[in-house]
Amino acid sequence: MANRTPSAIDVRTFDVVVIGAGVAGLAFSLALPEGWRVALLTKGVLGESNTRYAQGGISAAIGPDDSTRLHEDDTLLAGAGLCDPAAVRALVDGAPAAVDRLLAIGTKFDRSLQTGEILLGREAAHSRHRVLHAGGDATGAEVERAMVEAARTHPDIDVFDHAYALDLIVQGGQAVGILAELGSGERSVMAAPWVVVAAGGAGQLWAVTSNPKGATADGLAMALRAGVAVADLEFVQFHPTVLALAGTEPFLVTEAVRGEGAYLLDNDGKRFMLDIHPLAELAPRDVVARGIQDAMSTGNTDHVWLDLRHLPDELVYERFPTIANELAPHLIWPTISFRSRRQRTTSSEGSRQRPTDGPACRGSSRWGRPPVPACTAPTDWQAIRFWRGWSLGPTRRRC
Ligand SMILES: Cc1cc2nc3c(=O)[nH]c(=O)nc-3n(C[C@H](O)[C@H](O)[C@H](O)COP(=O)(O)OP(=O)(O)OC[C@H]3O[C@@H](n4cnc5c(N)ncnc54)[C@H](O)[C@@H]3O)c2cc1C
Repeated sequence: MANRTPSAIDVRTFDVVVIGAGVAGLAFSLALPEGWRVALLTKGVLGESNTRYAQGGISAAIGPDDSTRLHEDDTLLAGAGLCDPAAVRALVDGAPAAVDRLLAIGTKFDRSLQTGEILLGREAAHSRHRVLHAGGDATGAEVERAMVEAARTHPDIDVFDHAYALDLIVQGGQAVGILAELGSGERSVMAAPWVVVAAGGAGQLWAVTSNPKGATADGLAMALRAGVAVADLEFVQFHPTVLALAGTEPFLVTEAVRGEGAYLLDNDGKRFMLDIHPLAELAPRDVVARGIQDAMSTGNTDHVWLDLRHLPDELVYERFPTIANELAPHLIWPTISFRSRRQRTTSSEGSRQRPTDGPACRGSSRWGRPPVPACTAPTDWQAIRFWRGWSLGPTRRRC
């Protein structure tokens, strides 16, 4: 840029510029009225974002025994007093309609083979079965697939892959566009009266994270440089159960596995969460995270175990195909071990930039001190069989 005069920069004009093509940027772009010309930027290719990696699912009060008020109560309880009630209400009230919109663009949620009804799972801190999944544990990937397809074929949305938003352009206290570097290396001003920053999370600011490489807090930095007030940066979500095979990227094991009945065991094979919270393994994430941390401290060890041996094979392989595929090649012992050497985080700040799913809704209760679980495969012959379906003896094994 230093070698160019401003007039050398290409200027394109839109009605809205959306930085980020994860679920937030895509949902916003697809919801705009017909005829609004949208520039949708992603610094990778469309579809590569945190959204793709979401395993666990989407909660919405659509079950016959459920209501948005129950969903609201559970959310406020899990938020431990730090939720913004208005934001929570907007979130839970809007969830069933959001599910309908996803269905309308062709999202394939998991359904009962018998009735054809959408299957609803139960997860941490939810008092009802209300979590929708797709592809078992590939919910984010399916939601993203449907939204990406809808965006790519939308006549009003111009998708810019490999387009790096560098800064907001502000005049008189208003954003009037952005400066971007396009895939070719060319710089461009994208002018618009509306600029939406939906650039995802900051996971890569941590030494170890389950987030993809692009989660580098660009949107947050741009907003701060432009003088935008930011809030709730202290809210960071540490997922309690992340598998880390030595030498591979950390791999998140969704809490839906606990939702289906998996136990957390300490090194003596004790279900320690039973003593900690009435919901045991389904307690809010920060409670589970602290429970794991305490179990590791008490046991003077760097891991705990996630025990699936009592769950039927069909359930595990049908419900969690991504996890099963990830683990099977590594010949994992039937229980999964978690340890806590390093700090890990799932996307958290990313969520906080979205009004419907920010800390206002999640509350601090979902983040914990870094308990940081990880797992490695045992190497002895007993493990050389199958990921699970075996009950080979004590769960006490060293990673
Ligand atoms: C392993 C894992 C599991 C998860 N499981 C769940 C779950 O079960 N349920 C759930 O609700 N949530 C889950 N989450 C969280 C959820 O995925 C995120 O909250 C959500 O996807 C965030 O969406 P987003 O659109 O805000 O950001 P992202 O999906 O991260 O999208 C960010 C977008 O911004 C773009 N971008 C960033 N910087 C720039 C720039 N400078 N210029 C141009 N574009 C830029 C990126 O390319 C990307 O397109 C999980 C997250 C992870 C990592």
